[in-house]
Amino acid sequence: MIRINDILDRVAQYHPEAGLDIIDRAYIYSARVHAGQVRLSGEPYLSHPLEVAGILSEMKLDNISVAAGLLHDVVEDTHSSIEEITEIFGKEVAHIVSGVTKLSTLTFESSQERQAESIRKMILAMADDIRVIMIKLADRLHNMRTLHFHKTEQKKIDVSQETIDIYAPIASRLGIYWMKQELENIAFKYINHEEYLKIKSLVSKGEKEREEYIDTVQSYITHKMNEAGLKCQVIGRYKQYYSIYQKMISQGLDFKEVYDIIAFRIILDTISQCYEALGAVHSLWKPIAKKFKDYIGVPKPNMYQSLHTTVIGPFGERIEIQIRTKEMELVAKSGIAAHWSYKEGKSYDEKIGKTFAWIQDLVENQEDFRDPDEFLENVRIDLFPDEVYVFTPQGEIKTMSKGATPVDFAYLIHSEVGHQCTGARVNGRMVPLQYELKTGDSVEVITSKGHNPSKDWLNFVKTVKARSRIRQWIKTQEKGRSLTLGREMCEKAFRKYRLNFNTVIKSGEIQKVVENFGFKTTDDLIASVGYGKITPLQVVKKIIPKKEDEKEESSIINKLIGRVKKKKPEDGVIVKGVDDVLVKFGKCCQPVPGDLITGYITRGQGVTIHRKNCINALKISSERQIDVAWNMDSSDTFPVRIRVSSSDRFGLLADITSNISKCRANIINAHTETHEDHLVDSYFTIAVEGTTHLKSVLSSLKKIKHVHDVKRIND
Ligand code: MN
Repeated sequence: MIRINDILDRVAQYHPEAGLDIIDRAYIYSARVHAGQVRLSGEPYLSHPLEVAGILSEMKLDNISVAAGLLHDVVEDTHSSIEEITEIFGKEVAHIVSGVTKLSTLTFESSQERQAESIRKMILAMADDIRVIMIKLADRLHNMRTLHFHKTEQKKIDVSQETIDIYAPIASRLGIYWMKQELENIAFKYINHEEYLKIKSLVSKGEKEREEYIDTVQSYITHKMNEAGLKCQVIGRYKQYYSIYQKMISQGLDFKEVYDIIAFRIILDTISQCYEALGAVHSLWKPIAKKFKDYIGVPKPNMYQSLHTTVIGPFGERIEIQIRTKEMELVAKSGIAAHWSYKEGKSYDEKIGKTFAWIQDLVENQEDFRDPDEFLENVRIDLFPDEVYVFTPQGEIKTMSKGATPVDFAYLIHSEVGHQCTGARVNGRMVPLQYELKTGDSVEVITSKGHNPSKDWLNFVKTVKARSRIRQWIKTQEKGRSLTLGREMCEKAFRKYRLNFNTVIKSGEIQKVVENFGFKTTDDLIASVGYGKITPLQVVKKIIPKKEDEKEESSIINKLIGRVKKKKPEDGVIVKGVDDVLVKFGKCCQPVPGDLITGYITRGQGVTIHRKNCINALKISSERQIDVAWNMDSSDTFPVRIRVSSSDRFGLLADITSNISKCRANIINAHTETHEDHLVDSYFTIAVEGTTHLKSVLSSLKKIKHVHDVKRIND
């Protein structure tokens, strides 16, 4: 077991100026709160955070990371709290510990192929400081190293599968290859024990011969390099069992056919030496054409750089050879962590800047740091700045654009779920439909049958899918309405000219009108009458030769609309001569029953009702006008704005509101304006049944003491 002094010595070595005090205090604190707890191994629990901190110090991470490593389990497993950690160790350590704790409490239902990538992204997205992931990886590594203490086989297999699917790929993505390999190797042992043992015994079988083989190849290479005047180090090593196994599986090979179970690596000083060395190797042994890869010229996204080649070796076997510089070797070992390690006295230089480029694109505030230390402290990674990851109630992860709402989520599940969405619970709590989802949220959509999407949703939905589904729905609805409205208007117009609209359609005569207006189908033509884009009269005129006086046009449209056809008690307004029309009320003049009103066919929105004297109504062309009447059977209420002017006095507002309530009117909205001379204007929007009801409210308010004037606004 590693001791705290070993860790302190190590940190002091790679970063002499780092404050060791925080590590020391973290150790003492961790020991105190974990006291009495034991691991499955029987060791005191403290051994785990200590080993994790040890791994972090091997990776040469900063003192904050090491301290946070010692504290990584205290919030989850002891009575300690984030507040306490903040108080004792400061915000930075607390932020990292809280990040690790958050990740630990996530439970993933399955790490199946389909979900694995989402889970990996979610973990990376949730850790807004890359050190959180480093600690999580070190934590997982130590847990894998001690996995044999677990009692049940299933548990060992589950943890191993998760490691292969989630954590090893994350380590690989960050370029920490040694960790990726160790994680995979241990996991392989549990998941496929038989294969593991088989490969292990096969590798060890010819061990002695192979050692000799490694020596031979190494000396060939070294000799050749010396000849070329290249100073280098040559390493020959066995490939990991898991990579051998993968090679056998993916290429359908037998163990004997996997020649390159030994890989060689040549490490040099400069990049140009690497290419020279490559030339020397190729002059020594014949390269296999398609096997050469230049990751120096084109580095991998995780900054890995190296030349890879496969050649036919001295005994006719294939040899895989990697050629790289010392710096590349360091990066290959610990990935981006290599760049966060303290460089003695070296400041941030351009070369490191270039290597960082890939991650720089992804981090926020990238211009704000100048040296690696500062970078380490300030970097808040946001690897996927445009996405959020949320859970379904079944624990599945869904990926959406940042800013997505429960409505977006509902449409992602299914169009019908979207259409019928009335609300949502996030992490068990009711939220408004506009709620902005956050990574890690668990979302449950509440639907109700027969509920329809609202146009307002378009103001806040973020995903393309939700937007297009809502638009589609509205369009279909509008087209349906416009068709009905348009058809009825056309039928009436044609009747006035003693023509039967349906006969005209059947006879095919309508076709030329359709083409004439530039439409594709008859329905398009009729709908566009309903939308108010063309008038029914224009259609009639195309069918019958122009006889009538132009002036008649406007009177004709009024003639078209005759008696009331059918009463529809559920609507507040009857559009004369037309059934089932979408009716809206002008916000400008707020008509209430009893007001003189008129209707206007609006593009795509049915009929809008205005008061006859409304300024906006007067502007609209008479062609689009349609006669309407109040439906006196309706029990709807309508909003209307009023202004109460009074002198300021105590209890005034209470008197006004109680008078409004006494008149059985609801207050929808209220606000007051106080003026200098103790005069107050109070504005209310109240819901009334009609003008009579409104009058009774107004006269009741006039009776209140100190009220000077009560008025309906827009009168
Ligand atoms: Mn742990």
